[in-house]
Amino acid sequence: MPTGFRPPLALILLVGASLPAIGDDAPPAPGALKAPPADEFVVIPLRVHILSSGDLKDVDCALTDADIARVLGKANGIWHQAGVHWGLESLVREPAARQGRFKAAMDAGPADKLGVFRLLIPEDSRSDEGVDVYYIHKFSVNGVYLGNRVAFVQETAQLRPVPGGIDEPLPRVTAHELGHSLGLPHRQDVTNLLASGTTGTTLNEAEVARARDRARAMPGSLPVPHLRKKAEEAVVRGDHPEARRLRTWLAEIPGEGAADARKRLDALLPEAEKPGEPKPGSP
Ligand SMILES: [Zn+2]
Repeated sequence: MPTGFRPPLALILLVGASLPAIGDDAPPAPGALKAPPADEFVVIPLRVHILSSGDLKDVDCALTDADIARVLGKANGIWHQAGVHWGLESLVREPAARQGRFKAAMDAGPADKLGVFRLLIPEDSRSDEGVDVYYIHKFSVNGVYLGNRVAFVQETAQLRPVPGGIDEPLPRVTAHELGHSLGLPHRQDVTNLLASGTTGTTLNEAEVARARDRARAMPGSLPVPHLRKKAEEAVVRGDHPEARRLRTWLAEIPGEGAADARKRLDALLPEAEKPGEPKPGSP
């Protein structure tokens, strides 16, 4: 658990449970920059919120744990060219907040409709580190970065395909909004990540430099050598959930250290979670 963060009980339970393993990276897109060595990566905690609503169909999001794992795996495949890794800190399923006020504000007329979505954010589950991404069913844009380390993404995102673009909208929209959280403005070159509404995923050298600067300044972000040290410290003091989370992030970073990080992670997993080891007495 990052220093200074005091989660509500429900969140502790969620964080303590095993998080979905993030899927494998997609191969780098044509024109993508080469990822730096693992030791140069910066890891940023990402808290994913799946908002639900019984009344507001456009808010109620149906994404599964497997969807989130796949989407973040691909979004990280995009961001690895910048040496930035988004580590899933927790996955929170929760009802949207202030639904009545939200509906009234949406019905009231053509005000700042995207700002109104801030109403839906449950205050207790906000992270004070990294970025919070909220998934909803549908709104007037694919995604929006609302400032203050908060982004919204619609699960029904649609994009205009471009040569070399990614095969699925959601990881690209997520990665695009995360780009805004790292200070990147739009750049309408069609095949790049910060173009509006396309499947493009590339970043140029200037964007990488700017994003990395902002990543290092993001509250809760950690350079890989520091992350490794923190993981070992968590092992020593017996904080296995924390050790497991940090070693999971290390194992997701491409490069020479990944296999070693995976081995260290496996050493922490309870027997039941280890792949390929049949439990005694199981059919
Ligand atoms: Zn944008």
